[in-house]
Amino acid sequence: MISRIDLRGSLDDPRSVLPRADFDVEAALERVRPICEDVHHRGVEALVELTERFDGVRLADIRVPAQALQDALRNLDRGVREALEESIRRARLVHRDQRRTDTTTRVVPGGTVTERWVPVDRVGLYVPGGRAVYPSSVVMNVVPAQEAGVPSLAVSSPAQKEFGGLPHPTILAACALLGVDEVYAVGGAQAVAMFAYGAGPCRPVTMVTGPGNIYVAAAKRLLKGRIGIDSEAGPTEIAVLADDSADPVHVAADLISQAEHDPLAAAVLVTDSVALADAVEAELGPQVAATKHRERITEALTSRQSGIVLVDDLDRGLEVVNAYGAEHLEIQTRDAAAVAARVRNAGAIFVGPHAPVSLGDYAAGSNHVLPTGGCACHSSGLSVQTFLRGIHVVEYDERALAEVAGHVVTLAEAEDLPAHGAAVKARFNWATPAPASQ
Ligand code: NAD
Repeated sequence: MISRIDLRGSLDDPRSVLPRADFDVEAALERVRPICEDVHHRGVEALVELTERFDGVRLADIRVPAQALQDALRNLDRGVREALEESIRRARLVHRDQRRTDTTTRVVPGGTVTERWVPVDRVGLYVPGGRAVYPSSVVMNVVPAQEAGVPSLAVSSPAQKEFGGLPHPTILAACALLGVDEVYAVGGAQAVAMFAYGAGPCRPVTMVTGPGNIYVAAAKRLLKGRIGIDSEAGPTEIAVLADDSADPVHVAADLISQAEHDPLAAAVLVTDSVALADAVEAELGPQVAATKHRERITEALTSRQSGIVLVDDLDRGLEVVNAYGAEHLEIQTRDAAAVAARVRNAGAIFVGPHAPVSLGDYAAGSNHVLPTGGCACHSSGLSVQTFLRGIHVVEYDERALAEVAGHVVTLAEAEDLPAHGAAVKARFNWATPAPASQ
């Protein structure tokens, strides 16, 4: 069912043959542009119409009433509540440790530069809700924003017809557990536009984060600049780098677990063991047949973005996974920690036999909003850092400025920007103080 790519004996750049989904955000831009413009110009009226068109429900109010949040928490299954609380507790532990402290560098006596870390003013957090329900994404968005100290945050998730136009109750309960009271029943590109431009009760935000489908990703790309965004987190990907010590039952289960998200999800095994490749392939059939979402899993596993890549050895395997830059990368090899230390490109790395990606999806403490589509080669997953800006605070006294003024004037003249130099000279009665070193 799953395709094979045999790179044994090949020295080619693996990038040219590695599988990747047809996730053409550029093409989707043209689709979401009119949606975003409509929300910009007609606000709530457009949101109500678009929600009716895409989610099949006519909203009386785009904002979720406070009572609905409290009702959802009260009615939440006890086991789910306990699991969410543990997930939140672990995520807080990890994200609290990511907080930055200001640093002050004394460049010269009387001259300092401080980097002050300041959270963005207001964020819009997108929680997907099309094919699956992601209360875990509420945790993964909200916890880092709260730990960063963002003063104002709002959540949006698609309206669900079966829940009277509210987002899924477990999503509402997760918001209530985290103390988030500003929640909107809006999904897709229109939610990103609502956050960017503001609409009715929703004030504009400075930043939008969170995973979503191609329309969400395209709207974030379109509105980037007006708002800050996190890295593009599109359809999920798992790559597993494994040798013959890996358990094929576990490897197959882990590939299937991520294929479950989306027919566009990618599951890639990279191995130097033909025996393991055969055993994993043999496992996939019965495991897929036994699972609930077998149709979309089968589509994901049999589409071009998934496959088993055979390599000569683990060194070549590392080259392949580094070229691929998976959102999630599992290392199931002997001495897994040493192999993991050689990985340069991945959203998150799961080391050894007891760290499946599902653990990170819910309760490792790490964040599950991670870069996809190769963006892990230049971007990071969601963290406290995502919501912070480092502001340089420059403090120089007269003596410290005088000491460097000559250099500033010289460089200003070299750039043919004499007014820059004049701004310094004006402070010394238009004489150019000689640099202290001259
Ligand atoms: P979603 O909430 O992202 O999208 C649903 C919305 O899409 C709907 O509300 C609707 O408004 C809009 N939409 C649907 N069809 C449309 C169309 N034809 N034109 C314009 N808009 C349309 O939910 P989803 O679809 O289930 O996608 C969630 C995605 O998020 C999955 O691909 C999943 O793998 C991914 N995900 C990624 C991460 C990560 O960290 N990378 C984490 C969780 C989920």
